[in-house]
Amino acid sequence: MNPRAIATLALAVIAGVVVSGIGCGAGTPVTGSPPSAVRMYVFDCGALEGDVSRFHLNASEVATARMSVACFLVVHPKGTLMWDVGAVPDGAWSPTGRPVTQRVVLPDGQERTMTVVKPLGAQLMASGYAPGRISYLALSHYHWDHTANANDFAGATWLVRPEERDAMFPASGPGAPLTQPSTYRALRTSRTVLIHDDDYDVFGDGTVVMKKAPGHTPGHQVLYVQLPKTGGVVLSGDLYHYPEERTLNRLPTFEVNPDQTVATRASIDAFLAKTRAKMWIQHDFTGNAQLKKSPAYYD
Ligand SMILES: [Zn+2]
Repeated sequence: MNPRAIATLALAVIAGVVVSGIGCGAGTPVTGSPPSAVRMYVFDCGALEGDVSRFHLNASEVATARMSVACFLVVHPKGTLMWDVGAVPDGAWSPTGRPVTQRVVLPDGQERTMTVVKPLGAQLMASGYAPGRISYLALSHYHWDHTANANDFAGATWLVRPEERDAMFPASGPGAPLTQPSTYRALRTSRTVLIHDDDYDVFGDGTVVMKKAPGHTPGHQVLYVQLPKTGGVVLSGDLYHYPEERTLNRLPTFEVNPDQTVATRASIDAFLAKTRAKMWIQHDFTGNAQLKKSPAYYD
């Protein structure tokens, strides 16, 4: 049985419920028709006050302790893929037109401070896409600052590695650390594809490929997008947070498997060298500030 057939079989076993949103019209813009080539939108999902000591760094070693939180929409002629969905749910705050400070309290009592300006759903709509009409949802990993609006995408097909899903929905006992399960509860019954291969070619033509990148979490992944004009881009997930982790060769203190992260970094470096793709570090505040944001896009 080929991997896709296995994934489909697994889907039939675990999903049970097929949520509307897939089928006719899924992935197409609210107005207009799908583009003829791949494009990618970058959304401003806020900024996080970081603690560099959690990354084996000190304040004098980083340009800034702040972290961007970025969300992405890849639009392919065959459908749409949402990649990471923010740190604060749209429903948990009211936009004022100015930066709004939000305190996030995790289930284990840890607190984080976020600044948000625009809701993700409104940014998507402004680009012509409704959260309920996205074809695929993928999360780089389960940490709270990547999952906040996941419930809004429960109508999409969720692309996830089984080891990540198992950690998000444990049969018993406490959930995975640094998660906010209420933000992704609805994915439990989403149409789901369990990915077993290292590489998963989302639309079948090699332009949008999720790559296994474990270590930060068990089923952590990065996303390769081949854009016709921009070229190849790898969205890092949390393979790195600060660019200085890369230049100074530091690891976060909270990797699920640090040795695996080291191996993953080496294999992604080899992939970048081979393809000459750029890597966008999603939490890199300075790098992210230079990216054009929706409704502008990269093509
Ligand atoms: Zn993370």
